[in-house]
Amino acid sequence: MFETLSDRLSSVLSNLRGKGRLSPADIDATAREIRIALLEADVALPVVRTFIAAVKQKATGAEVSAALNPAQQVIKIVNDELIAILGGETRRLQFAKNPPTVILLAGLQGAGKTTLAGKLARWLKAQGHAPLLVACDLQRPNAVTQLQVVGEQAGVTVFAPEPGNGVGDPVGVARDGVRFAREKQHDVVVVDTAGRLGVDAEMMQQAADIRDATSPDEILFVVDAMIGQDAVQTAEAFKAGVGFTGVVLTKLDGDARGGAALSVRQITGEPIMFASTGEKLADFDVFHPDRMASRILGMGDMLTLIEQAEQVFEAEQAEEMAAKLVGNDFTLDDFLQQMMMLRKMGPIGGLLGMLPGAGQMKEALANVDDRDIDRTAAIIQSMTPQERQDPRIIQASRRQRIAKGSGSTVAQVNALVERFFEARKMMSSMAGRFGL
Ligand code: GDP
Repeated sequence: MFETLSDRLSSVLSNLRGKGRLSPADIDATAREIRIALLEADVALPVVRTFIAAVKQKATGAEVSAALNPAQQVIKIVNDELIAILGGETRRLQFAKNPPTVILLAGLQGAGKTTLAGKLARWLKAQGHAPLLVACDLQRPNAVTQLQVVGEQAGVTVFAPEPGNGVGDPVGVARDGVRFAREKQHDVVVVDTAGRLGVDAEMMQQAADIRDATSPDEILFVVDAMIGQDAVQTAEAFKAGVGFTGVVLTKLDGDARGGAALSVRQITGEPIMFASTGEKLADFDVFHPDRMASRILGMGDMLTLIEQAEQVFEAEQAEEMAAKLVGNDFTLDDFLQQMMMLRKMGPIGGLLGMLPGAGQMKEALANVDDRDIDRTAAIIQSMTPQERQDPRIIQASRRQRIAKGSGSTVAQVNALVERFFEARKMMSSMAGRFGL
């Protein structure tokens, strides 16, 4: 899966290599190519639109980092956006405070629910749980037997109605299954439900009834990634009919274009939690948006390189700043850059963490929130280069001009200049104290 998309994206992005700067036309052309690549991969149109808008805005905007060349910057932006549409953070299963945890599986027939039940059971068991599989797909001939087979492969107990009970009562079986789990100390119950070839009201109602009877902690919508655009409509129907807390993508080993995988998170608002990549029980794993994104981009090494370049750059910047601090030629430009760094890295990751006993200075410098930083930036940017280099020249009339230029008050300009001098004083006294 994703080969074509991956190839297209790589070729679009490699066109940027060697460019010194990206012009708006370069960005437009790249965005257009990425758009085509995503549409050809069957990604839903609204998802494509959001994606392209974000890439364009970031490539044009201020988030561009000086550590990377233009090609690397765009790769990083595309990678970050892929991670974002795939859901950002890895979403783990939520276990109930009072076991058993009930996991309900829902989806169309053939989506891979029964297989998934076995995979989940095997995986849960490996994590030290004692899962129970409950067979509530009483519609499809052999579904119960199939669940018993995968249960046996996974080495877990399967709760099923007595054979020969005909269509039976799936809601009753589900309720009895959960009771059985409680009695026999199974801490997780996986309930397999019936699917149809298409969405239908009766199936949806049955799944909703099973949901009401078992109060599941997680409802996993199981969807075959090979069904392309239909996955989106199916997901919406299940969302409305049963609701779900997470998505499982199956058949990611197939050769489909992968658009479903890239659309379902944003369309449904629910996270992709697991991925199935084959018929065997072991072909299954927790879904990690970041790993999937780098697989799609097919640029694992490049991404590592980008990360390292950024880290090295930040370390160099921090060192440079440290040298300035102790040399007492710290200017307002440095002050601003310092605050930006603090915002970006958090107080401990920044420069201050490199200096011994930096606690008090941290207060003078970093006792600021984002809005404060934005205002400070506006004030400093309204100063002339000489004023930034030598703030001592900023007298009353200059302060008025700066206040006006930055949309702030003279008192705010005063406070900033004072804070700057205070920080500088504290730094040089600290530098003296530590013999730097
Ligand atoms: P259910 O009707 O939703 O319970 O679907 P099944 O679990 O019976 O799966 C339908 C078919 O898809 C079976 O032949 C499975 O072996 C196959 N299958 C399930 N998951 C995967 C997968 O991740 N990859 C591949 N290639 N086949 C799968």
